Amino acid sequence: MKKHVVAITRYREKTKSLAEAIELSGAFDGLKGNEKVFIKPNIVVWTEKTVFPKWGVITTSRVIEDIVLVLKERGISDITIGEGIVTLDPKNTSAPAHAYRSLGYEALNKRYGVKFYNVFERQFRKVDIGDGFEVRFNTDFLDADFVLNAPVLKTHVQSVVSLGMKNLKGMLDIPSRKKCHTTDPEKPLVYMIPHLLKAMPPSATVIDGIYTLERGPSPDGKARRSDILIVSSDIIAADMVGAKVLGHEPSQVPVMVNAAKIHGRPLDLSDIEIRGERIEDVASFHEYDFPYNKDKTLHMRMEKMGVKGLSYRKYDDTMCTYCSVINGALLMAVMFAWKGEPWDDIEILSGKKMQPTPGKKKTILLGQCMVNLHKDNPAINEALPIKGCPPKFDDTIAVLHRAGIMVEPAIFQNIEMGLSYFMGKYKDKPEFDESYFKVD
Ligand code: SF4
Repeated sequence: MKKHVVAITRYREKTKSLAEAIELSGAFDGLKGNEKVFIKPNIVVWTEKTVFPKWGVITTSRVIEDIVLVLKERGISDITIGEGIVTLDPKNTSAPAHAYRSLGYEALNKRYGVKFYNVFERQFRKVDIGDGFEVRFNTDFLDADFVLNAPVLKTHVQSVVSLGMKNLKGMLDIPSRKKCHTTDPEKPLVYMIPHLLKAMPPSATVIDGIYTLERGPSPDGKARRSDILIVSSDIIAADMVGAKVLGHEPSQVPVMVNAAKIHGRPLDLSDIEIRGERIEDVASFHEYDFPYNKDKTLHMRMEKMGVKGLSYRKYDDTMCTYCSVINGALLMAVMFAWKGEPWDDIEILSGKKMQPTPGKKKTILLGQCMVNLHKDNPAINEALPIKGCPPKFDDTIAVLHRAGIMVEPAIFQNIEMGLSYFMGKYKDKPEFDESYFKVD
């Protein structure tokens, strides 16, 4: 049986380490030099207002520049970088432009002629990804001769890991992204993701593990300096190895189980040949989830603070990114609002499928999906809807205040500034080096 080759190397030297990994993996062997190559980094979030920890969250510019240099050495001149960055306002084009400037993509353009696009300013085309699903992909990605997929080696609170397959979601338009977070118990997010491969041009996956992340995908996770590169021409093989390196058996990772089922692959890595470092020599366990209390009704931090009179279950995988942003701010605001006086038996529901606990006095419905689902639910005594898709900050604050949870509006108004709070974790740790996110 022909095996899929995956190279694992340590990142030790600019360009040389990646060139070695690519050589070992044979991932570029089919390239002739005249291809149109599309590079897909992972730039989860961006804000112009503050500096936040990028380690383990965003693909390093170092790896992106290394990829460009290796492609150039192989005679490739038509290179495009494209990403669909999540910003608070999807129509905001200045934040993505700021991201590309700050990450050194303008320098790559000047030096090597690399083009870079915010995919939300480009075209999308409908693609049938099977099982009755159609989603709209960016056309620069679809029409490339070769895609260089460059995710970060990280775990993810909803999908356990976020690697090559999950990175493809950033090529969808916003309605398609929302569609991926279905309510169908047979077809959750982790079932949808492996279907995205059906749209993929020939490709190679370079997993950037210079910095890895626990409890990703965002800056509230915890980064480590790991100096690992994983390269393969087979995205599923790269992801299976990536999951193992993060300490998670593919058989325990639903997105891998679904990928194996859909694409007819074994889960035990028996169709994979590893070259370079051994998995066991580079692997280290990365937690993927935030702890909740025993009955799963409160974040462990709230439980420890002694919060009473509130049930605020963990968001599930039906919640899409834009509601996740609100939910992150809401969690923080509720924690800061706790003054030791029990709240009035309130429940907060989110996502697309959560059901109310009968008997609660007040039920806050976060987002239009919850509002629609429970508009006539007899199990709810007093519904407090926060309408909108995603809901607006002002409406969220007003409803929380009506419920008696006196959240501080400034937390929502300065949500982008709040990201800088997470920088504290990396203070005085020289291994967390901002220069990895610049092009000299
Ligand atoms: S309301 Fe929230 S969960 Fe529902 S589709 Fe909109 S963003 Fe997604």
